[in-house]
Amino acid sequence: MTAGGRVPAGGPVPAGGPVPLDLAALRSELASSPAADRLQPLGLGRVIDGPGALDQLAAAVAQFPGSRDGVVVLAAATPMSMSGRDLRSAVEATLGRRFRLGWVTLRPASGRQLHADEATVAAAVAAASGAGCVVTVGSGTITDIGKAAARPGIPLITVQTAASVNGYADPFSVLLRRGVKRTTPTRWPDTLAIDPEILSAAPPELNRAGVGDLMAMFTASADWYLASAIGSAPSRPDPAARGSVPGPPTAGADPPYSTEVAGISRAHGERLLALAAGLDSDPGRLAELARILTLSGIAMGVAGSTAPASGMEHAVSHLLEMAAAARGDHASFHGTHVGVASVVAAATWAHVRRRIAGGALSRAAGLPDPDATRDHITQAFAPIDPTGAMAAECFSDYAAKLRRLASSPDPLAGLRAAWPEHDVVLDQLLIEPDDLARALLSAGLPVRFRDLPEPVSDADARWAVASCMLMRQRLSVADLAGLIGGWQDSDIDEVLADAETAAAGAAAAGAAAGGAAAAAADAAAAAATGATGAAAGAAMDADAARVAAADADAGADAGADAGGGRP
Ligand SMILES: [Zn+2]
Repeated sequence: MTAGGRVPAGGPVPAGGPVPLDLAALRSELASSPAADRLQPLGLGRVIDGPGALDQLAAAVAQFPGSRDGVVVLAAATPMSMSGRDLRSAVEATLGRRFRLGWVTLRPASGRQLHADEATVAAAVAAASGAGCVVTVGSGTITDIGKAAARPGIPLITVQTAASVNGYADPFSVLLRRGVKRTTPTRWPDTLAIDPEILSAAPPELNRAGVGDLMAMFTASADWYLASAIGSAPSRPDPAARGSVPGPPTAGADPPYSTEVAGISRAHGERLLALAAGLDSDPGRLAELARILTLSGIAMGVAGSTAPASGMEHAVSHLLEMAAAARGDHASFHGTHVGVASVVAAATWAHVRRRIAGGALSRAAGLPDPDATRDHITQAFAPIDPTGAMAAECFSDYAAKLRRLASSPDPLAGLRAAWPEHDVVLDQLLIEPDDLARALLSAGLPVRFRDLPEPVSDADARWAVASCMLMRQRLSVADLAGLIGGWQDSDIDEVLADAETAAAGAAAAGAAAGGAAAAAADAAAAAATGATGAAAGAAMDADAARVAAADADAGADAGADAGGGRP
């Protein structure tokens, strides 16, 4: 996808699908890629997906001999169903016949929402200790807790209950440490079960959130490329010096960019945009969405970092989620945040590329002063965490990024030396904010922070966007904006205004499509009465009406979200 190309958001799903998910083929492709020696092993053993996947759960558990010692199921208290049946009963029935089963319900340690915080993970570790096999039944948070609780060596089987995030199929957990969201290396699930009947029974807004989470592929992949181009990626130990096994995943900083790994999910970007509309009513689209999410998780896992799928948009979203958790408030679904933040990240990329086109790279990089930054971070987090613990946690990571950048006499030299070439690659990875906004609207997702199901105030949104680079080691376009002197208050205002324009434009396009549909339907109705025109003309009008009516559906969804209601 080039930046100039228009995206068929909400249009018919293109031929060529469904998205393939063949672990063996993927392993061999990765093994022959130029980056093979620095990739992590693909530790996900098996994906059982498609109709009837849950029926294979008992056999999948039985593959692990340790299961005879007892199976612990971790789940949240949220009721779950499939095809009108209670999912817990279904899982207990299928596993209880063959294994000694302990069903553990994890509850929020505080507040109303379950988080993967220290207390909850400790409870899960205690519950899982002694189990011969751990099964998680739930969405992203339960999966993250399960990956942290089931020690390596204990089989872990994940039953995915929604197409909500890409974290079902990777060896990381997003855990709250001192209130700060930290991507923490944990472990791969051994087996991932994805049953479309279960996905179809999930709340529609949870599945739509999966589309939002994947929108990061259009901005995070560019951030990852940038980190390599700028040379902030830490040099990795030579694998040969330590035998043939590369080091363990490092969640903190960026691994070197790999075209092959970025392409694992990014190759399905156009397909994703086309799948976005009509998701709620189509189990086939949901199953495909789940496959792209799985591929996105695998890309992170083999990269040994969330870099392929988590850039500036995720840092913004993490800050908003942390702020909500610190206040004990409900936050909107992760992917719903990410979708909105991806429009801002795309607008930031457009802003930075305009600045560079205007000569911003010709000046020396402006590196922040560490002491001033510590004060800045402390001030930034004081409103949501007066104890200062969050600020200290964030500064420790940010300071590592600053030290890496400062270790070079000219951190922008690599970028400056070959900017035209870099810009061509970035053009292939990025899409325009307008295209992202239109795809979100076609999926029934909000495009503005204040339109989120749990609305975020303009002030909080601005805080999260302005501060996003302060929360972690990984480098994003917001860091580059700062280095070229393009992250002043006026720049942030400009980026937020551009994102707003993209949202308004997408909503207007949806409304116009709705108007065109109505006009075409009138014309078709007139033709059908036989008042004028030959049969061939009537047939053409009827075709036009069908196409326009499909657009009108997308427009109606867009209108509902632009109004700010819950999806
Ligand atoms: Zn995510």
